[in-house]
Amino acid sequence: MCFMKLPRFFKRQASSSDDGFDAAGLGLNLGARTHHYQFAHWMLPQMGFQESGHMLVSLTRSDASEFLKSLWQSVGNELPRQERLSPDGLSCLIRKFDDYAIAIITLPKAFRVTEAYYTAFTFGPVSTVPKGQLHSLPMRYFALEVGFSMPGEPSRTVFSEWTREPSHINMGDGPKPEVEAFFTKICELIGKSADVATEAVVCNSCAATFPSTVFSQEEYTLLQDYLTYTEFNAELPMLLKVKSLYERHPELIIQLQSDLEKLLESTDPEIQDKIYSGIPFDEIEVPVDKLTLPEGLSKDDEEAIEYLRTATFALEPRLQFVSENRARLEPIVERNFVLCPTCKTGHLILNPQ
Ligand SMILES: [Zn+2]
Repeated sequence: MCFMKLPRFFKRQASSSDDGFDAAGLGLNLGARTHHYQFAHWMLPQMGFQESGHMLVSLTRSDASEFLKSLWQSVGNELPRQERLSPDGLSCLIRKFDDYAIAIITLPKAFRVTEAYYTAFTFGPVSTVPKGQLHSLPMRYFALEVGFSMPGEPSRTVFSEWTREPSHINMGDGPKPEVEAFFTKICELIGKSADVATEAVVCNSCAATFPSTVFSQEEYTLLQDYLTYTEFNAELPMLLKVKSLYERHPELIIQLQSDLEKLLESTDPEIQDKIYSGIPFDEIEVPVDKLTLPEGLSKDDEEAIEYLRTATFALEPRLQFVSENRARLEPIVERNFVLCPTCKTGHLILNPQ
């Protein structure tokens, strides 16, 4: 792992210890916890702006969660013992989007105003990076924060961006605190059409299609839940195959780097040319590595290896996330559906393009 210099700390005045700002005891969620706040709003963006290329490489490695946890601990080490929090739940997910790589960080549970549920780095577009200058990869940093709400009111989120200066730009109400919604919001913001812009709604019986804009928020949320559920349903067996493979062959954890990592770390001039001329990651062919695979792999193992070529994730947190959310969505999608207004028998399905 490459080592980045840790940014110097400044103590935030507005942070508080656990008894916080709610002196009147109204049950308000005020007063961000220092450890949580400094990690998400200070440490991560500062390090990213210092060395964006290194940050991307660190976050795309299979030990990304360990990397984040060590940073979390280094923030804690600067704080009085009673203010230190556990890194439970801290994890990272990498998405490729056009010639952007987007790293979404899930923070330990956030509940005080301004604490972040998620933050994200966007790296790219790669086409603007001069050859051999990966360290100057353009980067932006976004956060989805807990917004202020009175007890009993629906919770709110705030979408924000930290710039290099650093200044904090509050962009108003954010989407619900879920990975997909946050990801979509970021894609929209970086000026690319997210899936949402092109997706259509299709009937599973008569195949009639509808633009996604004609549905109520409630119907649309249900369609999204159904789509997420089917995606998790497909992903879960693959993750379990990977887990089984890794348990029997732990030496493969390091060897089976994803294509994205291989591309970014490649010293092959032909590949570098392609990356820096702005060809989307997905379209660059990754050289077959001289990996020697163990004998006696099953068909499931081969599928797992193929899957690992294109996916970058930290297995345990991803497995937990996918199983939990699959289980959460299952009863919802089993009981509810959006009826097709044309044939009045089919169910509508959101079609990701
Ligand atoms: Zn229909």
